[in-house]
Amino acid sequence: MTWEPRPLPKPTPETEEFWRAATEGKFLLSACRECGLTYHYPRALCPDCFSDDVEWREAEGTGEVYSYTVMRGVSGWPESSLPLVYAHVELDEGPRVITNVVDCDPDEVEVGMPVEVRFEETDREDVAVPVFAPRED
Ligand SMILES: [Zn+2]
Repeated sequence: MTWEPRPLPKPTPETEEFWRAATEGKFLLSACRECGLTYHYPRALCPDCFSDDVEWREAEGTGEVYSYTVMRGVSGWPESSLPLVYAHVELDEGPRVITNVVDCDPDEVEVGMPVEVRFEETDREDVAVPVFAPRED
């Protein structure tokens, strides 16, 4: 499975480190040194206390499916790329990530399913996209 034909993320000054780290197999979270909140998606200001004293922390890359839907038809989407599992994954560190669940039968996805991150390459050298697959432990 490749990322395309899905739209490519467009890195911004706030997110380019996140996408670059993904090309190295790392899922970065943002963390506030002022109040301790760990959050995703990346923002320059803490969404809780608005401090700009924030840093990157590498996540374990594990979590569980919080919610999902299986998309079997999407207008303009190649049928070879369907069905698509659109999911919210709650990371073990707490933040929830909007993502896709891959490498499994969509009918086997369920709320609470343990998952781990994988990274899909894109046509851009500085962007890989995190997706999640059933955890193998
Ligand atoms: Zn904070």
